[in-house]
Amino acid sequence: MSHRVYLALGTNLGDRLANLRAAVHAMPPTVQPLAASRVYETPPWGYLDQPAFLNQVIRVQTELEPQDLLAWLKRLETDLGRQPGMRYGPRLIDLDILLYDDLQLESPTLTIPHPRLGERAFVLVPLADLAPDLQPAGMDRTIGEMLAHLDRTGIQPYGVDSNHFDPE
Ligand code: ADP
Ligand code: MG
Repeated sequence: MSHRVYLALGTNLGDRLANLRAAVHAMPPTVQPLAASRVYETPPWGYLDQPAFLNQVIRVQTELEPQDLLAWLKRLETDLGRQPGMRYGPRLIDLDILLYDDLQLESPTLTIPHPRLGERAFVLVPLADLAPDLQPAGMDRTIGEMLAHLDRTGIQPYGVDSNHFDPE
């Protein structure tokens, strides 16, 4: 069975645009990207003394179960050159599962919807490019409504728009 999943991509080291592109192109064959938000440059969050991030959200279709998808994404992060580092610190690539169909899941290694989805403008701004009216499982507001309550200062579309595609 095919699942509709939203993934968040983040990077603040090296050639950031290339890192995003590499991640989209290196998705396993069982994970098909169907749409991508614009790329946004966003100020660092949590630990402030580090370069700005590029963030993007993609919608994919996959047959993988959530834990298998997470394992693939972790492997891909390592393959692309991510080194273990501090939480919220600089990273070559961060790949998070935001939403997986209407699934609500809480395990020691995986929480869906992503636990910090509703409080992070750098996730909601790109997600709103693709799904402003989507209401995540277990939440009482849409992406657009959550975003309206957040400070999006400093989050800017980055570069040309050629990374943005949404066939729907
Ligand atoms: P960050 O919280 O900044 O993304 P990491 O990428 O280092 O930090 O992730 C830490 C751990 O968060 C992962 O190893 C993973 O087990 C766990 N995790 C829990 N829920 C999710 C999710 N929805 N997507 C990705 N990782 C998740
Ligand atoms: Mg992560």
